[in-house]
Amino acid sequence: MGKLASECETERARTLTKEGISMDSEKVIKRDNEYVLHTYNRNPIALEKGHGLYAEGPEGQKYLDFTSGIGVNSLGYCDLTWAEAVSEQAHKLQHTSNLYYTAPCGKLAKKLCKRTGMNKVFFGNSGAEANEGAIKAARKYSFDHYGKGRDVVITLVNSFHGRTIATLTATGQEVFHNYFGPFNEGFVYTTAGDIEGLRELVDRHTCAIMLELIQGEGGVMALDPEYVQAVRALCDEKDLVLIVDEVQTGVGRTGTFLCCEHYNLKPDIVTLAKGLGGGLPIGAVLLNEKTAEGMGPGSHGSTFGGNPVVCAGANVVVDRMDQSFLANVSERAVQLRAGLAKLPMVKNLSGIGLMVGIEFFGGIQAADVLAACREKGLLVLTAKSRLRLLPPLTLTAHDVEKALGILNEVLTEMEQKAPKEQA
Ligand SMILES: *Cc1c(COP(=O)(O)O)cnc(C)c1O
Repeated sequence: MGKLASECETERARTLTKEGISMDSEKVIKRDNEYVLHTYNRNPIALEKGHGLYAEGPEGQKYLDFTSGIGVNSLGYCDLTWAEAVSEQAHKLQHTSNLYYTAPCGKLAKKLCKRTGMNKVFFGNSGAEANEGAIKAARKYSFDHYGKGRDVVITLVNSFHGRTIATLTATGQEVFHNYFGPFNEGFVYTTAGDIEGLRELVDRHTCAIMLELIQGEGGVMALDPEYVQAVRALCDEKDLVLIVDEVQTGVGRTGTFLCCEHYNLKPDIVTLAKGLGGGLPIGAVLLNEKTAEGMGPGSHGSTFGGNPVVCAGANVVVDRMDQSFLANVSERAVQLRAGLAKLPMVKNLSGIGLMVGIEFFGGIQAADVLAACREKGLLVLTAKSRLRLLPPLTLTAHDVEKALGILNEVLTEMEQKAPKEQA
């Protein structure tokens, strides 16, 4: 790691000279812009390979990555054990469809149930697909027990649940409810923290409440534990299915396997995706006994779901997350947050563990900080007005210091340029 970091220093210096991006990056970017649908605002850099915390561009530019591909590369880039398990499985058997049994899928499901206390697992390919499955299972439970017309799912304002039509509808942000209508019926929204408002919203048509414990895309906003307990109590009282979307918070991100553990919460359904596969596409719906019961043969499916190669990778991720691994996540989070709090222009920090939101004093735009960090060889994210950090969970104390150093440089420069009254 030490060697890599120092290598990075020289590579960074090289990038900073800006002697012109050589042909390879230019070619990759130009071709992509010409042929790939422009649904993303990409950073103007191409990445070619990676190792641990570092990603490398075609010309050898190195970047310390505090994004982990939006919380996906939980073991960093190309972890050796993970890469070996994946390639070994690819050489053995890459896909069978769900008409046959394969071992990696069942092994992963067993581990997830043991770790979380849930009863059954459905595998899909993404967060949105996991949430779709969760919504279906909740509606099926309600149908089986109460009949037709009890199908409304309550979600939170400022939530994010995915990009399919149903999960877009579930997403409680007006900006997402344009152009692609008609949107589905059966979703209503409530403001996080307002338990009275939620009580008023629940009626004989309500079947489920779906929420993120930390709203990720919504700006890294953690829910209040008392509110979460009140929601659980309300769900118990009215027999509503409580769905917790742990697509971003789950699989070690907050220092516990599920973020639910911080809230001492037992949901009826939990969805996982981002960090679970260590970089390969996977989504999982974890169901308790009562919600699993009605989901029999034919009720749901996914061609690629439970794919053995993807599950072989996910098994390595879950196996790695023992006590000492999770302790490192918590310790690095404490170190990172203490360091961030001391940086210039930082107003406050949000989130739990290694899901970090940073609010700046007025005038400093998170997007500008992101761009300046990239110039200095550090990759970060934004979420609404905040800077967002989702580093690989394998980071070391040295990686944290390195990132803090770059952020300090960037923010010190910005402080000097900022008008005095804003500081
Ligand atoms: C990213 C995310 C999703 C969507 O996941 P995809 O894999 O992009 O479909 C859903 N919910 C939450 C909380 C997320 O962070």
